[in-house]
Amino acid sequence: MYSVPKLKSFTEAALDKAVEKLLAALKEEASAIKTEAEWKTFRDRWMARKNGVLTEINDLWLKAAPKEAKREVGQRVNQLKALVEEAVAKAEDLPAHGSAADSPKAATDSLDVTLPGNRRPLGSEHPVIKTMHEIVSVFRNLGYSVEEGPVIETDYYNFEALNFPPNHPARDTQDTLFISNQESKPQRERLLLRTHTSPVQIRTMEKMKPPVRIVIPGKVHRNDPPDASHSPMFHQVEGLAVDTNITFCDLKGTLDHAMKVLFGSSVKTSFRPSFFPFTEPSAEMMVSCFICGGSGKRGSEPCRPCKQTGWIEILGCGMVDPNVYGFVDYDPKKVSGFAFGMGADRIAILKYGVDDIQLFFNGDVRFLEQFG
Ligand SMILES: [Zn+2]
Repeated sequence: MYSVPKLKSFTEAALDKAVEKLLAALKEEASAIKTEAEWKTFRDRWMARKNGVLTEINDLWLKAAPKEAKREVGQRVNQLKALVEEAVAKAEDLPAHGSAADSPKAATDSLDVTLPGNRRPLGSEHPVIKTMHEIVSVFRNLGYSVEEGPVIETDYYNFEALNFPPNHPARDTQDTLFISNQESKPQRERLLLRTHTSPVQIRTMEKMKPPVRIVIPGKVHRNDPPDASHSPMFHQVEGLAVDTNITFCDLKGTLDHAMKVLFGSSVKTSFRPSFFPFTEPSAEMMVSCFICGGSGKRGSEPCRPCKQTGWIEILGCGMVDPNVYGFVDYDPKKVSGFAFGMGADRIAILKYGVDDIQLFFNGDVRFLEQFG
């Protein structure tokens, strides 16, 4: 088989002879091709960037040529390059190698434009994300800005700065997934999967002076075994407003307005006392059931989403505990504020009448495309 010789002389006659030999080999090899595999071998032998014949003539002829012969050799090498490329392209079309359908070129030549095109289905927002966007947009329209934070948090931001002291029993209400092998670190530096979006309240107040009006959408994790209403991963939307003279009336008015936008202008809201370490006083807010209109019945059937009470528990809220301001260098004598948080997955379940939270996360397109 032909291999590129080193040139002893770079005279025109010597070059002629070398080129002639090379072209003869090219012609012979091209005419021997019968299959597509052979054509590929042929193409690679002549054109491969590494060790291909063209690369070798470049190295052995052009680079080795003395200065006065460079121009002449360069022109010949360029001509050879064009000839080799032409021969390779031509060999691909040879009817000799296999059936027409085997040839990549034949396949494109016989493109049937009457065939239906490839369908590329359009995606749509996931129902939980869609619900989060709806909640966020209600507060954006009230002048709130959006803040986000890390899902892997430190104990300090997830608990301590939110007024959950170490070993406080309130920590037990949020069954936490800790990152392993951190026993050597001080407790406040240990990493965990955030159990709520509230750490972003602290992170925002650290970098921003009042007035603060933010809404925080995000993913959170708790060590809850999955069932129809629990998932170890779920979504919250949380809000925080801190300014001078903010009262519980502002909290009630803001949230009442938000619920009417989200669930319809006829819903009523109701508050009952609750406990969260980072708010004081704290409350749970209920909305009148927007499925049965507050009657507790759907026709003669009991209304399941509100458990026949006519009310649905929708979020937790309260006035920011003055202790929290101590962690972010705010003066609790000068500022006050409120915070609230709701589960986006739960609201999506209620809104769309879904009976199992797992359906949102097991990725079945047949389920998800109903919300497109
Ligand atoms: Zn109901």
